[in-house]
Amino acid sequence: MPLVIPVFIPHEGCPHCCVFCNQRRISGYTEPPVSGSDVKEIVQTWLERDNNTSRQVQVAFYGGSFTGLARKRQEELLTAVAPFIEQGRVATLRLSTRPDYIDRPTIAFLRRHHVGIVELGVQSLADEVLTASARGHSPADVVKAMDLLHESAMEIGIQLMVGLPGESRRNIRQTVAGVIALRPDFVRIYPVLVVKNSPLAKMYAAGKYQPLSLEKAVLMAAWMKNRFDTAAINVVRMGLQAGPELENSLIAGPWHPAFGELVQARLMFRRVRSLLSSAGSGQRIKIAISPRDESVFRGMKSANMKRLKELHLADSFTLVFDPGQPRNTVIRLP
Ligand code: SF4
Repeated sequence: MPLVIPVFIPHEGCPHCCVFCNQRRISGYTEPPVSGSDVKEIVQTWLERDNNTSRQVQVAFYGGSFTGLARKRQEELLTAVAPFIEQGRVATLRLSTRPDYIDRPTIAFLRRHHVGIVELGVQSLADEVLTASARGHSPADVVKAMDLLHESAMEIGIQLMVGLPGESRRNIRQTVAGVIALRPDFVRIYPVLVVKNSPLAKMYAAGKYQPLSLEKAVLMAAWMKNRFDTAAINVVRMGLQAGPELENSLIAGPWHPAFGELVQARLMFRRVRSLLSSAGSGQRIKIAISPRDESVFRGMKSANMKRLKELHLADSFTLVFDPGQPRNTVIRLP
């Protein structure tokens, strides 16, 4: 696992107004922008703290549409990392941006500044969802951006959301199939939350938007994760990072600090249920998991064990912990 040094540039200069976003310009919140010397200081501090010299180091600009910033501003931030790259202390840069803020000159500029990984905020590939969410870009913009990024051999991540306005089972399936066809290197899945000062908060208050329940969001993310796993596309994160800022601004929605673990537990339950059901009734079988998956196997507050009990499957297996078993998998032993 590389060391990823995060630098946050929250919403600087974004002209858009996506319904789920509580841009600080809306709330009137102002904070001095991160300067080039701040970036240097952040990177230096992280490098001094990290004593694992063998792992790759990446610097990540998070929290905004990086390539929507004025070119001069982008240059200020990127060149601040250049000395660390030249010294071989940082291997590459990564950033997130919107699909409609990618074109050939932009990619060439990023390449010149050692950017190797770009994450696109795609959220959905359904026209009706993008429109209802006021994203201001189309599915065609995503396809074009992906083509250009693939052409430049950039590593590409795609960020998706579940629970957007206008979403349906049909268009979620369409989005996941479309993303698989675009072959990103990795995906992140975030549940939509209603946060203060966002257009969605007004829609929610007016009864025009209903967030997903936690249970439904977990089921949807589990379905998506399973599809991406089958397509050999890595899902690197599910759920938002916990933190006081998010918790203080949360109004409603499927928030859980361990959302990703809930999803993994749900998937583990399905795998175990399928193994046990195929074993035939009355048979006791041995199943193996990684010892690091014990909590995922049991589920939050033993939810998986309770489900297995309800299905009369809780006594039909002996659990073996095998350090050689890959994470998030279960097998039947002879
Ligand atoms: S989520 Fe939308 S409004 Fe918020 S910063 Fe990104 S593009 Fe701008």
